[in-house]
Amino acid sequence: MELDDHAEELASDLGVDKEEVKSDLQNLVEYSVPIDEAKGSLRRKYGDGSSASSSAPSARDVADVTPDDGNVTVTGVVLTAGERSIRYQGDDHVIVEGRLADETGTIDYTAWEDFGLEPGTTITAGNASVREWDGEPELNLGESTSISFEDESLDLPAAYADAIGGEATLADLQTGDRAVTVEVTVLECERRTIDGRDGETEIKSGVLGDESGRLPFTNWEPAPALEEGNVVRIENAYVQEFRGVPEVNVSKFSTVAELDREIDVGADATTMNVREAIRTGGIYDVELVGNVIAIRDGSGLIQRCPECYRVIQKGQCRTHGSVDGVDDLRVKAILDDGTAALTVVLDDELTEQVYGGTLEDALEAAREAMDQSVVADTIRDRVVGREYRVRGHLSVDEYGANLDAETFAESAADPEKRARALLEDHELDRDAADAEVEA
Ligand SMILES: [Zn+2]
Repeated sequence: MELDDHAEELASDLGVDKEEVKSDLQNLVEYSVPIDEAKGSLRRKYGDGSSASSSAPSARDVADVTPDDGNVTVTGVVLTAGERSIRYQGDDHVIVEGRLADETGTIDYTAWEDFGLEPGTTITAGNASVREWDGEPELNLGESTSISFEDESLDLPAAYADAIGGEATLADLQTGDRAVTVEVTVLECERRTIDGRDGETEIKSGVLGDESGRLPFTNWEPAPALEEGNVVRIENAYVQEFRGVPEVNVSKFSTVAELDREIDVGADATTMNVREAIRTGGIYDVELVGNVIAIRDGSGLIQRCPECYRVIQKGQCRTHGSVDGVDDLRVKAILDDGTAALTVVLDDELTEQVYGGTLEDALEAAREAMDQSVVADTIRDRVVGREYRVRGHLSVDEYGANLDAETFAESAADPEKRARALLEDHELDRDAADAEVEA
């Protein structure tokens, strides 16, 4: 359903102006409040008590809660509780998100009030409303919910008890995870100034690594301990999708402490076939092996807008109109391994490698031919039909499946290539021998 339809439905249910509801909804959704939460929140704001008063909440085991339950009463142990700031009607609101467990299962919750939830405590949430999020039930703890803290703590199965505090490895993390704790090495970190909702703000971004893998991060309120080379413990971070891959978000509510120990970062990327990789919906560090079956348009020598850096056609940027393009090199190659195909994007450096020349060389060739497509033609001749081992970041979105390559190397496993290389070596040896004889 489109936002407009949600607004329509809400407005008619609540008997209020649609445009007003829509702008409220837009606000909440822009700040990552799931649509169902946003609608629930607006129902409360505009005073629709229908779901709260329709039936008395019944006590439920966590495993038995379904999205069809209106309101329930649940007793469980708080596994995680992480604060997050959202902007609602122009004001910043702090919400608490996390996971609750009893003997039967776990369930995510969002607390819209400050109940003082702490990991490890056992609570009974009376009259919590149930919403569906991503096909799963989720508890909403709001104004009409009563929270009581139990003296006797529940005995949790070991798997749930281990999750108290939200400790995880990077490979465990998934988009949507809240209040997570990781211990990682900061592999890359740079400061950037962005045009945020409160004007220009400085943020940090980079890459974190641990034994299990690597993930990108954004640090919205620069934490001093987050510096390249440091080993840190990050508490209360959340995971959000950015450009199709999960990203660790370190907010002003997160704590970052430097650790006095080493963390080895696993050097191996996950190796998958193309179909499996696409099914993940986006993965930060993956290795694929396949044949380049074609080079797409927009490869070779290209021009970018100096303002937004997007690729332009005939000196026209879609946003900035007529501009003086900046020359650049890029390849968009279609890689197929028999299970599926995706687009591999090579940056300027990798493109220089497969082209066998620099940007200057490419410009020279284009001038000579009076046609810049000769650069793409040369690249096509060199790579199409060959097998490559590619490592990089895969995003899967409305633009399709794109792998931003970090490395792109002809597969050494290719027997034909190995044979050819062997022959060439042999020939070189013979040439060298001939040369010696002549000398
Ligand atoms: Zn532009």
